[in-house]
Amino acid sequence: MTTHDLPTQEFLEVLTSVLGRVENSTIALHEPDIGTHEHKIVAECLSSGWVSSVGAFITQFEKELSKITGAKYVVATVNGTAALHLALHSVGVKPGDEVIIPTLSFVATANAVAHCGAIPHFADSNTDTLGMDPTALRKHLAAITSKRGPDLLNTKTGRRISAIVPMHTFGHPTQIKELVLVADEFGLPIVEDAAESLGSYVGDKHTGTFGRCGTLSFNGNKTITTGGGGAILTNDESLAARVRHLATTAKISHDYEYVHDLTAWNYRMPNLNAALGCAQLDRLAEFLKHKRNLAHKYDEALKDAKFLKFVSEPRGTTSNYWLNTVRLVVPNLQTRNELLTGARSRGYLCRPAWNLLHQLPMYEQSPRAELPVAQLLVDSLINVPSSANLGS
Ligand SMILES: *Cc1c(COP(=O)(O)O)cnc(C)c1O
Repeated sequence: MTTHDLPTQEFLEVLTSVLGRVENSTIALHEPDIGTHEHKIVAECLSSGWVSSVGAFITQFEKELSKITGAKYVVATVNGTAALHLALHSVGVKPGDEVIIPTLSFVATANAVAHCGAIPHFADSNTDTLGMDPTALRKHLAAITSKRGPDLLNTKTGRRISAIVPMHTFGHPTQIKELVLVADEFGLPIVEDAAESLGSYVGDKHTGTFGRCGTLSFNGNKTITTGGGGAILTNDESLAARVRHLATTAKISHDYEYVHDLTAWNYRMPNLNAALGCAQLDRLAEFLKHKRNLAHKYDEALKDAKFLKFVSEPRGTTSNYWLNTVRLVVPNLQTRNELLTGARSRGYLCRPAWNLLHQLPMYEQSPRAELPVAQLLVDSLINVPSSANLGS
């Protein structure tokens, strides 16, 4: 392509060359692909009458997820936030604790911590992976923590730090092996927020299976959808049993009596949603292929660009390319906004990265590390239309 004097011109040329011109309509950032196969399976579920929290599709959905991710145990939930809440609770996060999360994430990561009565403690990102930076995290924890018995204390706040939640941003695997080493050094469990990374691997190991447990989301904008839905992945049998129990009102199995032994949640995925999930999983390989193809097109179109760069999967990993991402070579919030408004006015419904979580009103008092990289990322990242059908 030719180079341009203006970043916006360059961006629009890339979008037009990959997606074509948009006339009197828009191209969504990410929309689900629901076809005849989904209609058939969901209709089957409706006819069976088993639409709620018990049914064959839930079991089948969990089994297939287990096969795809390699996680021994999978518990499907009503959404990804509920999965993360339950996962954090089950690894021992208690009210008044702090939990390390990236400030560059969707708000659900912080909300799940808050739902435990705990406080998010924000960590910085890595420029290349967009995920939590292990080197910066090690330095930060070494500077602000001390051991008290089995607990790790934040010496500034006096609170216990009880877990680390790395997130695989836009589907790109974060440096999870390095983060596991840091977590081990400080005696903390890892709960992986793999909401965005179904189909993403480090080597040949699926994201969400490196920590004590991991969570997925099947919201309507994710790689596959169940309408709303999530799942907890783990290789720990007793953790899986606890999670399953707590997700189903802690009900003790009995023919007719209502026996419950804990205050728990109604977080299990309904069979109706699982039916849609089963149909979508049948097409996961097709979606991933198309998304990869689309990513390749963006990458090619940006080869000789002057102001912009494509964000590729980190070396040694396979990304699902959930949301394709373009970055400004020179981070600049005003330029970023010009690119966004320019693209959106022409029907390409691009989005920026999330506003940093530590700047949201409910979390601005939360403890945090230095966060220079995350801020530069917000000033430079733009998500571009990424639905699987655009790459078919
Ligand atoms: C989508 C998402 C979740 C979970 O969202 P739900 O809408 O509750 O399924 C959690 N974390 C991240 C990073 C996400 O993108």
